[in-house]
Amino acid sequence: MEIFKEISPLKAFLKQARTGGNSFGLVPTMGALHKGHLSLIEASKAENDITICSIYVNPTQFNNPQDLVKYPRTYEEDLVMLEKVECDVLFSPTNIEMYPDNALMTLNFGPLDKVMEGFFRPGHFSGVALVVSKLFNIVEPDRVYFGQKDWQQFTIIKRMVEEMKFNLEMRNVATTREADGLALSSRNRRLNEKQRTIAPILYQALDSAKIELNSKLDDFANIKRRVEKLFEEHPDVSLEYFELADSENLKLIANVDEADLPILCIAAYVGDVRLIDNMLLGSQK
Ligand code: AMP
Repeated sequence: MEIFKEISPLKAFLKQARTGGNSFGLVPTMGALHKGHLSLIEASKAENDITICSIYVNPTQFNNPQDLVKYPRTYEEDLVMLEKVECDVLFSPTNIEMYPDNALMTLNFGPLDKVMEGFFRPGHFSGVALVVSKLFNIVEPDRVYFGQKDWQQFTIIKRMVEEMKFNLEMRNVATTREADGLALSSRNRRLNEKQRTIAPILYQALDSAKIELNSKLDDFANIKRRVEKLFEEHPDVSLEYFELADSENLKLIANVDEADLPILCIAAYVGDVRLIDNMLLGSQK
């Protein structure tokens, strides 16, 4: 695997690789890699000649400074995992390389970033979109891979790609889960043993709501109240939001009939670890 920490040598390498007519797949990550990240790399390897994984804990997307400090960093382990799946290129830049000056630009996605993650993490998607567009300009990938776990992020970046006419294709990869349903996340490393046994509560809330909604057993307002109560009664968790949305435009809806492809989204703290998850209701078009 070729490893680059600076933009210029990476660009020179990619320019050379491009002359051979190779296609590029990009997998942006913040490191602390797990099998979910590796599934994105596998998906890229299956349809591109060269797969570039980036590892960069992007400060501008952290609205909570403590979250940035505590974000897991496992660079040596990440290298071993990337070598094992035969990733071709790793780009792991420093802050100076990505932000030689403080970022002045902010990006606004209208209604897409005013709900759910965008509402509870103001400025988060501006930071995500800023760093992702830098990566797009540096790597010039043919295809880019994002996980379904961060559906709102995928939707916002997809919109940015359309509006800014980035010349690339977006891919979304299904969420990899533990046997008990917990979505794999770098933040899971911060859960202690007890918290780890509780954390599947997010998945359980989504899964039972999905069954109830699909079988029209109850309406979303009642289901949401039950989920809120479940979390209130549990001393180690705190629910931030549980919403039903249109997966295309992220509009919050009260009824599954209001969208072609509705999505249930949840965010909650287990101890001081903030986790998110979602479930699409029906098959993806
Ligand atoms: P992160 O390192 O958390 O910024 O995630 C990097 C990419 O991996 C994002 O596109 C995520 O959506 C994706 N990802 C994170 N967790 C999972 C998972 N459990 N399954 C599939 N993709 C994931």
